[in-house]
Amino acid sequence: MTDWKRIEDRLREVAPDCVQRDVILADYTSYKIGGKSRLFVEPYSEEMVGEVLSTLHEEGVAPFVLGGGSNVLIADSGWDGVTMHLGQGLSGWEFSDRVAEVMAGTTLLDFIRETVKSGLAGMEQMAGIPGNVGGALRMNAGAFGQEVESSVKKVRGFLPDGEAVALGRSVIDFGYRSAPELQDVIITSARFSFEREDVETLQQKMEDVLRLRAEKQPLEYPSCGSVFKRPPGHYAGALIEDVGMKGVVHGKVKISEKHAGFIVNLGGATATEVRDLMDIVTDKVKATHNVELQREVKLIGFDNARE
Ligand SMILES: Cc1cc2nc3c(=O)[nH]c(=O)nc-3n(C[C@H](O)[C@H](O)[C@H](O)COP(=O)(O)OP(=O)(O)OC[C@H]3O[C@@H](n4cnc5c(N)ncnc54)[C@H](O)[C@@H]3O)c2cc1C
Repeated sequence: MTDWKRIEDRLREVAPDCVQRDVILADYTSYKIGGKSRLFVEPYSEEMVGEVLSTLHEEGVAPFVLGGGSNVLIADSGWDGVTMHLGQGLSGWEFSDRVAEVMAGTTLLDFIRETVKSGLAGMEQMAGIPGNVGGALRMNAGAFGQEVESSVKKVRGFLPDGEAVALGRSVIDFGYRSAPELQDVIITSARFSFEREDVETLQQKMEDVLRLRAEKQPLEYPSCGSVFKRPPGHYAGALIEDVGMKGVVHGKVKISEKHAGFIVNLGGATATEVRDLMDIVTDKVKATHNVELQREVKLIGFDNARE
């Protein structure tokens, strides 16, 4: 039996004032869905992340690492364990010429705005992707032809047992929305490098993509963005539209009419409703087009989710 009281006490020793109990995770996700986390810890230094991880490893507990919460669907029953939130407490950057060192909890858009202001090109098309730098690295986030993998040079973090690691870009085999070598790394900071470009040009590009996003995406509703990865040779949204599911409502969730790749929360939706609709869509597309849709969103705390 897990001794949660002892774990909480030990966490409070290595991360004083950073541990809470029964935190509602919905408040930390873009979906606004998800139950409570038994324990919730927000380290504010890289060293503290390592200490929290060693402690949890000794107790045989693996935390759920939460960044900006924009690509997770958390079960209604929540996470019966420890959530380690790497957000505002672990944020900030330093620029030196064309190179930036940035903490994993930094909001991606804040960081991109800073690069643009400094006349540094390479991530401006990714403006508007929600979430944090750590989550973007873990997901190899990208948009409009730019992906994190093109600008990152080094990733620092910890293995689940608390051992510090630093991975150079050449040892990370990034793929489409994936970074297999980062799968087990709790990312705390990274180095990026950029090309020089005129500030006004970069600003214009950034404003253009932000406008396009607002036009094409249902940003007025909580969501996790595109639920499914782009299947080779297809677009998930087009396949979903083709099987007649655009606009379909299930409980308090809906397949967006603006962008069929988004399943939005109409207000008060449950994680079960979202997951059920994902499964219905997956089955329909498979039956009609023989295409297996793969989820981009990470499901957390579900016992019986299809992966
Ligand atoms: C409206 C909307 C639009 C979107 N558009 C795009 C888009 O254009 N392109 C795109 O690629 N994505 C898009 N997304 C998805 C999402 O924003 C990205 O995947 C984002 O990079 C996730 O970052 P996050 O910090 O929110 O990660 P989270 O949702 O917190 O976590 C995602 C995964 O990363 C892990 N993780 C988070 N932080 C760390 C860390 N520090 N160390 C190790 N693991 C970590 C988590 O455990 C989880 O497995 C969109 C989402 C929304 C809601």
